[in-house]
Amino acid sequence: MNKFDKLDNFTMDLLDHLFSGSDDKSAVQTYQVSSIQELFSKSISEDLTGNIVDLFQVLKKVRSKHGLSPMAFNLSREDLSGLALKHQDIDEHQVSIGGRVNRARPIVEEAGSRVDWYLEQKDVSAPSGIELWDRIEDNHSRIRQILGMTDKDWNSFSGQLKFAIQSLDTLGRILRLPPKAMEEVGRVTRSYRMRLTPYYAGLIMPGSLEDPVLLQAVPTGEMVDNAGIEIPPVAADHSPARLIDQFYPRVVTIKATNMCAMYCTHCLRIAHIGKKDRIYKSQAYEEALDYIRRDSRIRDVLVTGGDSFMLPNEMIARILTELDSIDHVRVKRLGTRIPLTTPQRVNGELLDILDKSNEKKPLRVVTQINTAQEITPVSREAFKQISRRVSAVMNQAVLLKGINDTRVKMWKLCETIHEAYVRPYYIFNCSYRNPQFAHLRVPVEKGRDIVESMYGNISGDAIPRYIATAGGKIPLHRSNVVGVEGNELILRKPWSDEEVRYPDPAPEEYARKDFAFEKYREN
Ligand SMILES: *Cc1c(COP(=O)(O)O)cnc(C)c1O
Ligand code: SF4
Repeated sequence: MNKFDKLDNFTMDLLDHLFSGSDDKSAVQTYQVSSIQELFSKSISEDLTGNIVDLFQVLKKVRSKHGLSPMAFNLSREDLSGLALKHQDIDEHQVSIGGRVNRARPIVEEAGSRVDWYLEQKDVSAPSGIELWDRIEDNHSRIRQILGMTDKDWNSFSGQLKFAIQSLDTLGRILRLPPKAMEEVGRVTRSYRMRLTPYYAGLIMPGSLEDPVLLQAVPTGEMVDNAGIEIPPVAADHSPARLIDQFYPRVVTIKATNMCAMYCTHCLRIAHIGKKDRIYKSQAYEEALDYIRRDSRIRDVLVTGGDSFMLPNEMIARILTELDSIDHVRVKRLGTRIPLTTPQRVNGELLDILDKSNEKKPLRVVTQINTAQEITPVSREAFKQISRRVSAVMNQAVLLKGINDTRVKMWKLCETIHEAYVRPYYIFNCSYRNPQFAHLRVPVEKGRDIVESMYGNISGDAIPRYIATAGGKIPLHRSNVVGVEGNELILRKPWSDEEVRYPDPAPEEYARKDFAFEKYREN
């Protein structure tokens, strides 16, 4: 048996191709000779695959560009066959040179073209708060000065809350918005709460009416003007006990507070949040815990709000201790957006409480980050500290028009949070229940295009599930979309086969460019 019989067809094809070129030495440039001969001698002397791959790649290039065979460089078929054998002998998986050079490398190159556009655009069209940090720090020192905050105020949660921007007047001192927009904010905030901590307000890039943080935090006229049927709050259908929401037999949520450090313009719980901060009676928590104690099917309890980190530390500790003492409760979750809106809240005492509860039974933190701009070095550090004390930190993003409804923005969001110790978990199609934020809705199909575009292009564990909330969370896989009637989808609940109607935003509504702050643009 000839020793070259060990060469596979890919390699034989590659060699045939190379040696089908011309051996006319006069067509050869001297620099080509020296670089090829240098690669050849390195391939012989060193036990590395890289030199051999480089040599074959160069030979392939001069064959296709100049029509030259290796013979033009005094390399025989026997020389190259020998190197081909050496290559597969060195390689741990006996990959042939033909496979590597003619197959794997072109396949990787081809795949690269699927992400190169993203790599070019991601830091330009969807910069993270880490990339914008210099500008954010400038905003922070400006805001701090305007509000007259001391270091202590700035660095404490109570200071951030005390100086939170809640009035039109304060907003006007911090952000320059068109007069018409300010008028509208004034009108809307008579009916809905606005609150931005000074830290979070600093994430807004001044001068842009399309800023994704501005759009999330400062309400616009649509919030009161959007006509439409107000659908009764989820609680009417799904609250079997005081403070409790329940969609599933084994998971419940405790809406432990109606307060948040900032109020989102797209808040799903807007009805529950109400118009002013409330302190709940301790009997309310007792009754909620009692409900959980009595139903041994419940194994997973999500403490949410509002924002669960608005509760004082001793309250969080108490609720977690109670839950840990219930035998059938096996895992707990805390829902909070505070690590990104007010990372100053994440102090040692809180971290110890999380750690202690996680020691007993797994504790997870569920957050809501909607744009890479919300991740700064400070919030990333807060998530890092939290992630060391809990069993997982997971993100539920809401798909929002103008905020994260393009491939580049959503890929960038998922990668940025993945790099900030947070696992992308859900992307919610923005609910149709509340007309207040109908202008921020994105069609189901558009969201599916964005989520499906991630497969194969970003890490699998940075890809979230795409969900419609319609009396439970329905994954928007094609198999759950059982029909379309005009503008409504018919969705199937996978757990009960029940069908529900799910209105999509009207295409012409989604196509409108003059929404939110854009409509106040002055030409
Ligand atoms: C989101 C939510 C849950 C949790 O759902 P998972 O799919 O388990 O993450 C449970 N109950 C209510 C009321 C919810 O809104
Ligand atoms: S953090 Fe959650 S509960 Fe609070 S305003 Fe935003 S969406 Fe609503």
